[in-house]
Amino acid sequence: MEVHTDVVCPFCGCLCDDIEVAVEGGVIKDIKNGCAISRSKFLNNHLNKVQSPIVDGVEVSYQEAIDVAAQILEKSKRPVIYGLSKTDNEAIRVAINLTEVVGGVLDNTTSVCHGASIIALQHVGSPTMTLGEVKNRADLIIFWGSNPLEAHPRHAARYSVFPKGLFTPDGRKGRHVVVVDVRETRSAKMADKFIQIDPDADFDVFQILRALLRGVNIKKDEVGGVKVEVLRSLVEMMKTAKVGCIFYGLGLNHGSSRHLNIVALYSFVEELNRYTKFAVSPMRGCYNVNGANNVATWQTGYPFALDMSRGYPRYNPGEYTMVDLLAREEVDSALVLGSDPCSSLPVNAAKNLARIPVITLERKVTPTTMISKVVIPVATSGVESEGTAYRMDGVPLRMSKVVEPLENARSDSKVLEDIIKAIEIRRGV
Ligand code: SF4
Repeated sequence: MEVHTDVVCPFCGCLCDDIEVAVEGGVIKDIKNGCAISRSKFLNNHLNKVQSPIVDGVEVSYQEAIDVAAQILEKSKRPVIYGLSKTDNEAIRVAINLTEVVGGVLDNTTSVCHGASIIALQHVGSPTMTLGEVKNRADLIIFWGSNPLEAHPRHAARYSVFPKGLFTPDGRKGRHVVVVDVRETRSAKMADKFIQIDPDADFDVFQILRALLRGVNIKKDEVGGVKVEVLRSLVEMMKTAKVGCIFYGLGLNHGSSRHLNIVALYSFVEELNRYTKFAVSPMRGCYNVNGANNVATWQTGYPFALDMSRGYPRYNPGEYTMVDLLAREEVDSALVLGSDPCSSLPVNAAKNLARIPVITLERKVTPTTMISKVVIPVATSGVESEGTAYRMDGVPLRMSKVVEPLENARSDSKVLEDIIKAIEIRRGV
C-alpha cells in the first residue's frame, strides 16, 4: 500500500491540501482528512469511466478521434470552447490557444455561477484576504447567502470558523459567526446569530447597511424583512471587529439586481475598511473555476465570455456567454471540457447544444458525453494527472497524480495540444 500525503482535493474551491490517499494495485483504497464529498470523489474515481475514444457512438482509436475533432473545429464558422472549471491551469492555457487557432468563442462556467461577482469586481474592485489570513486573524465571520456546511464542508473547520490561528488562539470561542440567508440552513445552526432576510432583498439591505455605517438616520423600521435595529447592531459588530470577512454565495449573483447586488456589497465592505480590516470573498464552487478566470485574464485580459473571431480577444458577457450563444443558435460546434453543460445549463440551451456537433473531453460518462459526436477520455486532473489550480482566495496550489489513468486517457492539456497539431497538419502548417 503506498500512501500519498498533502494531496490537494480537486472538488470544491477550498482545495484542501492535507488529504492522505492510500493506493493499492493502482486503485485508491482509502483517504484521510477529506470530507464525505472528497471521499466519494477519490474512492469512486475508477467507476463509470469513459473507456475509449468514441465517434458517433463507435469506439475508435485516439488519433481518429483527434482527427475528427480537428476537422469539426476547423470547418466550423463559429466554434465555442466551454467549461474549464474542473481542469487544471495548464489545460486552460492550451484551450485558450486552441480558441485563438480556430477563431472561436471561449466561455467558462463562471458565466452561469459567479459571473456577476466578476463584473462587480471590474466595476468597484474588492477588498480581499487569503483563507490563511482569515484563519490567523479574523474574529468576525459572516456567511451571506452561503451554506458552507453543505457546499464546502471543510471551509468552517479548516479556514473560517473553528481553526486556531496565530492571532486567533481560541478558535471558535474567539470568533463571532453570523449567517444571513433567506432560510435557516445547517450553517445557520452553527452561527451565533442568524438573520433571515426576504428573497431578493440583498441589494436594499446592503444599501441600508452602508447608510447606517455613514450615520444616516433611517426612518423605516424594517428593510428586506429585517428590523433596522438588527442591521444597526450588525454594523456595530462589523465596525468593532478586529478583522472580519464576508463569504457570500451564488444567490447574490442570481437575484434580480444581478451584479449590482455585489457592487453594493463590495462598496459597503470597502467603506467598512475606514474603521477596521474587513474583506469579502465569493464561495467558488468548482475547484478551479477561479483558475479559469485567472488564466484567461493573464492570456487575454478578460476572465470569461471571450470572442477570438477577429484574431484578438473581445469580451462581452451576455453576448459571448455560452447560454446566450446557444439561445441565439449562433455556434455551430462546441468543444467541452471540465464541465457537464447538459446537466447544468438551462434546458433550452442544452437542447440547442445537442443539435450541433459536440466534442467532449471527459473522464466519466455524463449527459454531455451522451449527446456528443466525439468523446475523448481524459485523466482525472488532480488524481490521475498533475496540474495547478487556484483556490477560491486566489492562492495557486499544485495538485498531484496518485494513480495511473486508463490506458486510453491522456491529460486534458495533451489532448488539446494534439487537436491543435491535427488542425495545423490539416492546414499544412
Ligand atoms: S471541503 Fe471541498 S476541497 Fe475540502 S475536502 Fe471537502 S470537497 Fe474537498
